Amino acid sequence: MTDKGVRPPHLAAVLVGEDPASKTYVASKEKDSRGVGFTSSVYRYPENTTEKELLDVVNFLNNDPEVDGFIVQLPLPKHIDENKIINAINPDKDVDGFHPVNVGKMVLGMPTFLPATPYGIQTLLQRAGIETQGKHCVVIGRSNIVGTPMAIMLSRNAKDANCTVTLCHSRTQNLAEITRQADILVAAIGKRHFVTEDMVKDGAVVVDVGIHRVEDPTNPKGYYITGDVDFEHVAPKCQAITPVPGGVGVMTRVSLLLNTMTAYRNNIISI
Ligand code: NAD
Repeated sequence: MTDKGVRPPHLAAVLVGEDPASKTYVASKEKDSRGVGFTSSVYRYPENTTEKELLDVVNFLNNDPEVDGFIVQLPLPKHIDENKIINAINPDKDVDGFHPVNVGKMVLGMPTFLPATPYGIQTLLQRAGIETQGKHCVVIGRSNIVGTPMAIMLSRNAKDANCTVTLCHSRTQNLAEITRQADILVAAIGKRHFVTEDMVKDGAVVVDVGIHRVEDPTNPKGYYITGDVDFEHVAPKCQAITPVPGGVGVMTRVSLLLNTMTAYRNNIISI
């Protein structure tokens, strides 16, 4: 498209405060965007930015025709109401897929921006040739950004879904009994090595969403990254398993680019 003289897609990110993980995520998004030839811009604001100031930024990006999609990196400082900010984003530019309009469309199976992590997992299963039709998928974790949309997406009547889904959470009883029934197990708990070998049946497909930074002076970076699954002991039982790092995290990043590409196409067509 750029060869034809059309401008490249433009993804913007808004970062408030100094949260180290958020800074890393935004830096990755910037690098990924540039890597595929998108224009990338990052709007950085200090921790003491007011809700009103942030709403003004959102409004500015909503109305900038050169910006196809943008994300407001979460979590936001405590004095800012996240829901208010998400609600203010133009759903047509909401490439994170967090706006209630886009969540509603996702639930109904209408075309929309799917939340990046479950979208990445669905793509990963599809591209790895994992059969989902009629399979029992157990999702552990019910967050709005991972567990809940994952459960909905995999249960839909679609060729890369049609699973029977069980959604487990912190109040689930007999968790291991349920996870042992999973053909596909998605772990999004936020607890390091929570899923152990006794919780997984032979031949299962295991998707590890967790990201944990563990201090390690012997590592040149001073830390290593690991997941919610005890990979070393679970992997030998599995048909397939995602590593951490290098699994779901990468797919999440790809999904944001795909959503931006969709926003760009819609925007360019509408101009
Ligand atoms: P969260 O931290 O908001 O919620 C955790 C969920 O786990 C809750 O719904 C809770 O009910 C459930 N849970 C907690 N303890 C449990 C227990 N003992 N038994 C069963 N369920 C339990 O979740 P999140 O934001 O989805 O994040 C989960 C993990 O995934 C974190 O490690 C996070 O860093 C990581 N993450 C990774 C990516 C990625 O791109 N790879 C994206 C988002 C989040």
